[in-house]
Amino acid sequence: MLDLILDSLRVISLPMKANFRGINHREVALFEGPQGWAEFSPFLEYSDEESSHWLACAIEAATQVPPKLYRSSIGVNATMPALNSQSEIADVLAGFPGCTTVKIKVGINEKEDIERIATVRKLSPQSKIRIDVNGLWSVDQAAKFLESCGEIEYVEQPCATVAELRELKSRVNVKIVGDEILRKSENPFELDLDGAIDILMLKVQPLGGIKNAHALASHHKLPVVVSSALECAVGINYGLTLAASFEEMSYDCGLGTGSLLARDVADIPIVDGKMQIQPVEPNFGGLDVSAERFDWWKNRIMRTAALLG
Ligand SMILES: [Mg+2]
Repeated sequence: MLDLILDSLRVISLPMKANFRGINHREVALFEGPQGWAEFSPFLEYSDEESSHWLACAIEAATQVPPKLYRSSIGVNATMPALNSQSEIADVLAGFPGCTTVKIKVGINEKEDIERIATVRKLSPQSKIRIDVNGLWSVDQAAKFLESCGEIEYVEQPCATVAELRELKSRVNVKIVGDEILRKSENPFELDLDGAIDILMLKVQPLGGIKNAHALASHHKLPVVVSSALECAVGINYGLTLAASFEEMSYDCGLGTGSLLARDVADIPIVDGKMQIQPVEPNFGGLDVSAERFDWWKNRIMRTAALLG
């Protein structure tokens, strides 16, 4: 398997339109197997242990026949980074044509967060709003914010722990989505999510691939929504494939994040708020990293593959 990965390995760096998660370039590794190109792109600070789930997913994508699909396109949400100026917010929204759901990053500064939500509501009054807190709030902070932010579709990972999420859920009447609670867990199958969350956030790479994501959804018996891990078009297409492989998909998915990139290896356009599942033939023109960065990724892959056995 390692030979298959290293023989076709490319590592590229994609410039971003705006700073997101504190980065302005997204480095990703791609390789080709019998099922086409696959993406391995854990963020640079992630350990080999955590990255091993991402590699398991990439190997699955490169080598396994895709699952049965229930639809050929997926409704996606706009993803709003923690920006504050109205013109920057308008620019981001313009990258998501036809989308009627906006997921807004919040959690760092309550006043700015409330203003960001108000600006999105003003610029896109028809849109449903969901917020993503990345586990940053205490139960009290979350309860207070949710009482003052107006109607939202759901809140994603408002607090860090299952116990806090369960307490919050007993206090507020807003749907709660679990994201980090699953993908940062040592064993997400052992979590008792009863009374703590309403919806599972599934990200195909962090959760180890499509088969594992389905196993998790069946195990926890909760509705699901699918999001990206800021992948390039190759990984996005695999996320779209995951989203299309669920018979029930009641939510717009966070798979339009290619709009946050200034360049990508392929274009999967958002048309009327939807993205089509399609095989991606990457165009690497001018995107390859330096020899030093290539070696860094190659070493990371060799160490991570050794953990998979
Ligand atoms: Mg999230």
